[in-house]
Amino acid sequence: MKGGGGQYYRAVHEIFKASQSAATIKRVLNAVVRNIIEALGVDGCTVLLLDSTRQHLIHSAAQGLSDWYLRKGLLDAQKSLGENLEGKVVEIADATTDPRLQYPALAKQAGIASLLSVPVMKKKGEVLGELRLYTRHQRHFSREEKGFVISIANLTALILENARLTDLVRQSTEAQAEAEGNRTVLIPDLRKPLTFAHPSEEELARLLDFYRIEWLYEPRSFPLQQAGNGSHGMFTPDFYLPEFDLYVELTTSKQRLMTAKHRKIRLLKTLYPQVNIMLLNRKDYSRLLAKYGYGHFAGGSTEDIHHVVFSHAQIQRRVRQLAKQISRDYEGKPLLLIGILKGVVFFMADLMRYISIPTGVDFMAISYYSASASQAVRITKDLDTSVAGMHVLLVEDIVDTGMTLNYVLRHLEAHKPASLKVCTLLDKKTRRLVDVPIAYVGFEISEEFVVGYGLDHKGGYRNLPFVGVLRSELMAEGSTDIGNDAKGGRQEAVLQDK
Ligand code: 5GP
Repeated sequence: MKGGGGQYYRAVHEIFKASQSAATIKRVLNAVVRNIIEALGVDGCTVLLLDSTRQHLIHSAAQGLSDWYLRKGLLDAQKSLGENLEGKVVEIADATTDPRLQYPALAKQAGIASLLSVPVMKKKGEVLGELRLYTRHQRHFSREEKGFVISIANLTALILENARLTDLVRQSTEAQAEAEGNRTVLIPDLRKPLTFAHPSEEELARLLDFYRIEWLYEPRSFPLQQAGNGSHGMFTPDFYLPEFDLYVELTTSKQRLMTAKHRKIRLLKTLYPQVNIMLLNRKDYSRLLAKYGYGHFAGGSTEDIHHVVFSHAQIQRRVRQLAKQISRDYEGKPLLLIGILKGVVFFMADLMRYISIPTGVDFMAISYYSASASQAVRITKDLDTSVAGMHVLLVEDIVDTGMTLNYVLRHLEAHKPASLKVCTLLDKKTRRLVDVPIAYVGFEISEEFVVGYGLDHKGGYRNLPFVGVLRSELMAEGSTDIGNDAKGGRQEAVLQDK
């Protein structure tokens, strides 16, 4: 077994030296990996960094592991040694059976017996990624060895943070990567480059930002090497969209470059069949966005939106969290979800889909009388199910003044449920007139009138995949004072559906 003071010192010195030179961040991470293998005599090592969604781990530098193992798919940061995210060191004695690994069968196939995973963590406890060591024979790491790896992980965090603050990250070029013969090059911190290589890239980035779609700029280089066929260099797609697990390469109009690009993409698809990549020209942006429900081809009038407040992916993430919490809280109890039509239908459908315990569902419909201060609510469709003895969770799209909720809660209480709580996707807390208890809140929002994901303005915009604010001129058109009355355009009519 290797190791000991001299080698530890040399490792720290080498890594520090790499970080001080004009090296790219990728070269520094490679130095980390190489020196850990040297110092501890392990068989493989990787630096995994969290992507901008903080949901996935990406191999950013690796040595000693087979290429197919590194390309086994996106690593879910929660499922793959999730304890690292809490800042804990994880030691796995038998990697082939341990449930904490996301792909134990593949670890077995790759000949990995043990592994040690240490969080790469900033001083304030924010985890940036992980440092993983692999051995082919079962191995127990000593306190001293673990201490050394933790120190290197801390040093790596410092270097990454420093690199983010300086322009170091931008210096990662394809040529350097190629010269080093690296297998994978992934640098999540490239999310916001200082400069884009082409104005069309900036345009797409701005469009993605508008819809709050997560993106990474040139996060990964793929070596295009075919057995017996020599190297075709590296290929670095312009963007990666984690929500769709999709790489995007923008095309230019220059025919000579186009042909070479097409050839590279064909080769990439052959070598990495699990990688989704799309070649886009400027005109294709709208088609791509429409495919996922965004943009003016999507049928949801997104050009009327002033800005997006919560993206589809953000909403889904939060709804999944709420569903998990509800499933835990109501375990073993007869749960009935009750929704108030119509705005709640999207939220109800997703929430129910993610709840993992048996649950019933029912809906009520209500209408409002007049626009006056003494606005009255009337039930136009009551429940089909008896709530007596049931644990009822009233699901709302948005709670504003709390008047509607207050009325419906009083109505339900009269039918003697075993318990009665409220879950709302959106909460305009600052506008509350009636104090109603809310057990589960998706997001708190400001006073702005929002549409999408089921919420309407004059019956429109419900089918937008996100929650957004309408352009002010549309809000003003024939509408009453929205700022003072959250019912939007509804209060104009004497009796109107919610
Ligand atoms: P409350 O009785 O709490 O004042 O009003 C709740 C109802 O007002 C919601 O169920 C919803 O129908 C409507 N509402 C309040 N704020 C908004 C908003 O920002 N957008 C939309 N579309 N409806 C809203």
